[in-house]
Amino acid sequence: MFSKILVANRGEIAHRIIRACRELGIRSVAIYSEADRDSLHLALADEQVCIGPPVSAKSYLNMEGIIDAARRTGVGAIHPGYGYLAENAAFARACEKAGIVFIGPTPDNLHLAGDKLTAKRIVQEKGVPVIPSSPSGVGSVAEAERIAEEMGYPVMVKASGGGGGRGIRMCQDRDMLLEEFPIARMEARAGFGNDEVYIEKYIVHPRHIEFQILADRHSHVTHLGERECTIQRRYQKLIEESPSPALTPELRGRMGQAAVAAAEAVRYVNAGTVEFLLDGDGNFYFMEINARIQVEHPVTELTTGIDLVKEQIRLASGGELDYSFDGIQRRGWAIECRINAEDPDRNFLPSPGKIESYRPPGGFGVRLDTHLYQGYELPVFYDSLIAKLISYDLTRDGAIRIMRRALQEFRIAPIKTTIPLHLKIMDDSSFQRGDFDTGFIERFVPDEDDDE
Ligand code: ADP
Ligand code: ADP
Ligand code: MG
Repeated sequence: MFSKILVANRGEIAHRIIRACRELGIRSVAIYSEADRDSLHLALADEQVCIGPPVSAKSYLNMEGIIDAARRTGVGAIHPGYGYLAENAAFARACEKAGIVFIGPTPDNLHLAGDKLTAKRIVQEKGVPVIPSSPSGVGSVAEAERIAEEMGYPVMVKASGGGGGRGIRMCQDRDMLLEEFPIARMEARAGFGNDEVYIEKYIVHPRHIEFQILADRHSHVTHLGERECTIQRRYQKLIEESPSPALTPELRGRMGQAAVAAAEAVRYVNAGTVEFLLDGDGNFYFMEINARIQVEHPVTELTTGIDLVKEQIRLASGGELDYSFDGIQRRGWAIECRINAEDPDRNFLPSPGKIESYRPPGGFGVRLDTHLYQGYELPVFYDSLIAKLISYDLTRDGAIRIMRRALQEFRIAPIKTTIPLHLKIMDDSSFQRGDFDTGFIERFVPDEDDDE
């Protein structure tokens, strides 16, 4: 086991990882940018290293600086969290070269998972159903038109290297395709430095269902059940839960097997997620592999009792996976609401500023993962996720009631947050029945500006 770990991230996920280290008796090193001098993760960690100026490119994405800090502090491993360098194969390789363990999948895993088209091809060869798509990147509008015509509208234009809901454009018809195709390519080039895009069949009224995977370095792979992540805005998750109200034990069994087959097909190691879309007829399709710990991992932790971050650390240090889904006890229901510093009434405009008043919720069935405190000033430079509120109860109905109560207790002022929106959703009868698809949120927040 490692005696010291550097946490290459900030915000709530830095807290999450530092806490796991503390419980494992591992010393932690926090890194921070000049804009994060007042961040709470510095106080929780055993050591702190300033890594550069506020902009992420020069701090939390500064590979050389981070590896240098890791060397100077003598850590055995780096945990990248999510976002930033978490899925960067070059960074994982640089860690390897420096003799530091990257807590995550192999560089090859990261490389492959970052190329959605190739990943699809490889898992399809193992018999996993995938969303029909062009076999390779599509280079011109004319080619896109031809493929879409054959496939039938609506279609999706997707960036091979995309992530975080960006580089995805839905096209209802030919006119839309002509308009959106160049935009998608531009977005892909600007956002991911790779302008390869492909055309995928649009699955109508789908649910997003994903499976948590754990794999060790000795070819043992298991899944830990599913997460329902259908409540999304602009292809980004807002609310996640486990289990999914849409799965029967039979479907869960088949999807779980497909998820494990997908992970095995790419020789996956450590924690990861296999994402599927599920259509109204019970057909499921592989979408992508997320090669990291995910924002929504707590709902799996609460229903399985397994600490996923500790498992990541244990597996990265060579530990064996000596259990499987059939052997674990799943119990109850967990729901997570992503609290963002955004104004839902103003098209989710970021709402940074000083937290003048702060009252966190608590009590039975409530977990709060956050880096907020009273008096904290939210920097303008980073992601707007400020807290994850998770409720847990024996039943889904109970978990919704606890979530509603906790959201009501939660006060963060004067900045705007997504709390009021979450409250409306908890009160919605379709949500309560578990009857929704990825278009659910449009009823609450019409998309005013589709072009960002
Ligand atoms: P998940 O599938 O775990 O829900 P997301 O795709 O929402 O993950 O992204 C995880 C988090 O990382 C989100 O908070 C997102 O805004 C952030 N994120 C995604 N890509 C990047 C990036 N390149 N740099 C920094 N943060 C990112
Ligand atoms: P990212 O890498 O940004 O997470 P994904 O490929 O996982 O991108 O897609 C994000 C979301 O976009 C999905 O959860 C789903 O809501 C929607 N989506 C993606 N592909 C399709 C599709 N072919 N049909 C319908 N919806 C899709
Ligand atoms: Mg995805």
